[in-house]
Amino acid sequence: MRDFSNDHSALAINSATVKSLDLKGLIDACARAGIGAIAPWRDQVQAVGIPQAGRMIRDAGLKVTSLVRAGLFTAADAAGRKAAIDDNRRAIEEAVGIGAANLLLIAGGLPPGSKDIAGARQQVRDGLAALLPHARAARMPLALEPLHPMTAADRACVTTLGNANDLCEELGDGIGVAIDVYHVWWDPSLAREIARAGRRILGFHVCDWLVPTTDLLTDRGMMGDGIIDIKSIRRMVEDAGYDDPVDVEIFSANNWWKRDPDEVLRICVERFRSVV
Ligand code: ZN
Repeated sequence: MRDFSNDHSALAINSATVKSLDLKGLIDACARAGIGAIAPWRDQVQAVGIPQAGRMIRDAGLKVTSLVRAGLFTAADAAGRKAAIDDNRRAIEEAVGIGAANLLLIAGGLPPGSKDIAGARQQVRDGLAALLPHARAARMPLALEPLHPMTAADRACVTTLGNANDLCEELGDGIGVAIDVYHVWWDPSLAREIARAGRRILGFHVCDWLVPTTDLLTDRGMMGDGIIDIKSIRRMVEDAGYDDPVDVEIFSANNWWKRDPDEVLRICVERFRSVV
């Protein structure tokens, strides 16, 4: 297991953690904090244009772990599903344009009005199968992130690492998984599924689970403030062969999003060294 106690060179910042910053602001704040990798969201890079975003990131010497995010394959009709594939193809081009190591995907939830969760999962499988030839041609790996089951209806019907591993095994090369402690910490099969994912692990995300949690989306905690045994999960992920950056991803409307971004990044670095 890597020793982070005096070294945060493996720390990457998901731009949602310091949501108030635009791309330029994020790049400058990471430089001040000695952070060498980012996972920007699509709207942020689209706002400056992909070629310009790519130049800014390269000029700053930053790594990009993932472009966040695409997927969302489920829709009420064929036209909606095709539109999703088209958007995912654009996301692959954007990820290539900014030099991302992978494109992060979430599945999508139930189509409006539907109660067919099995059908939604089939739509995700079919969407990934349709997208993969484009991803392979562009040499852009797809990182499928299973989300906590509380998001199955509105965001992601792929809810366990086991689900995601099954899809990867079926679909073959070009797709792997992103493991976020927030989404998987509770899973009794976690150790087995992390070992099974092995070299397919393309990303590892950290934050913490607060007790009580007051919002299903925007009440994530800073590492160390909640109940997730982050080091144990990192050990499993690294034992499986993962040695790439670790993304800090904190959606926190009532706390961290209200603070000065430099303070947030400083605390991210401290906690990365002490509890990640
Ligand atoms: Zn995540």
